[in-house]
This record gives sequence, structure tokens and C-alpha cells, in this order.
Amino acid sequence: MATGTLHDAFVDELRDSYDAEKQLIKALKKMAKAAKATGLRTAFETHLEETHGQVQRLEKVFTLLDEKVKGKHCDGIAGIIEEGRAVMDEDFDDATMNACLIASGQRAEHYEMAAYGTLVVWARVLGHDAAADLLQETLDEEKAADEKLTALAEGGINDKAASAHEDVPSSPSKSTARTVKARAANGTSSTRRRS
Ligand code: ZN
Ligand code: FE
Ligand code: FE
Repeated sequence: MATGTLHDAFVDELRDSYDAEKQLIKALKKMAKAAKATGLRTAFETHLEETHGQVQRLEKVFTLLDEKVKGKHCDGIAGIIEEGRAVMDEDFDDATMNACLIASGQRAEHYEMAAYGTLVVWARVLGHDAAADLLQETLDEEKAADEKLTALAEGGINDKAASAHEDVPSSPSKSTARTVKARAANGTSSTRRRS
């Protein structure tokens, strides 16, 4: 008979997120360095600081549950980070690189939003309300980070990326493909400035 419980799955997912946050601390440092605009660099640095707090919050949750503070390799975020790293090796102009960094960052934030959304709901259903409150704080930070990236994309970074090669007549198909990629950074915002 199967013996694994929802509580076991909950602790497993906490360990997965704990490891994901630690991977993201390293990745956010690199993304801040790669950013070619002050506002974007600051956004990554601010979220890096928040991420340190998120690690501590998870440590509190383990303590509340009387569980050992321990990570378990998160393959999902490792894949998202690897894709982001590959983009940084591409030969993009500065404006396009900023748009691509936003796109990579938003993939990570949405992955985290999915993870913490589940963790909050599982914590509540299992009766761990203090843990649920802590996890909700992190979920709110992930959502705010995602919205901040959307605001930066729509507040000029996408427009700059889209017009970066307007004066270059050669290879129109390539530049069109890159424009589409830059616009894809708009994320969850319900308002689009361009159609
Ligand atoms: Zn439990
Ligand atoms: Fe996080
Ligand atoms: Fe995050």
C-alpha cells in the first residue's frame, strides 16, 4: 500500500523551492550584470535581495514544520536558468538583450508563482496556517517582481529593442524575428501598448 502523504509531497515541494531560490540567487547576480539599463539592473538587484529573504522564510517554514532545512535539486528552474544563460551568449544589441533578459526573468517568476501558489494552498489545507502566511508573502513578492518586469518592458525597453535596427536596411527577416522575440516579454499585463 502506498504510504506517501500530501504532507510528504508538501515538504518535497518546499525542498524543491528552497533549492530553486538558491539557484536563482546565482542567476540574478548574472542577470543584473548583463542588464544594459539602470532600471532593469536595479530590478534584478532588488529581487536578488528579496530572494535572500525568501530563502530565510523557507528556513522558518521548515522549522515551523519541525523538518530538516534541506534543498532538493530543482530541475525545472535549472532548465529555465540554462535557457537564460544561453540568451546571454547571443550577439544581441543592448536594447534587445534587455528585452531578452526580461523574457528570461519572467519565465522564472511564473515558475515560482506556480510553485508558491501550490505551496500556499497545500499549507492551508494541511492546517499549517503560519507556514501558509509566510509562503503567501513570498508569492506576493514573486508576483510583484513579474509585474515590475512587465512595466519595464512596456515602459520603453521593448520599443527601444524594436527600433534598434530600424536604420539598418539589411536582413529584414532577421530583424522581424528579433522584434517578435522582444515583444514576447510583455508577460501577464492586460494592457498592450502596441497591436
Ligand atoms: Zn503537514
Ligand atoms: Fe523567489
Ligand atoms: Fe522570484
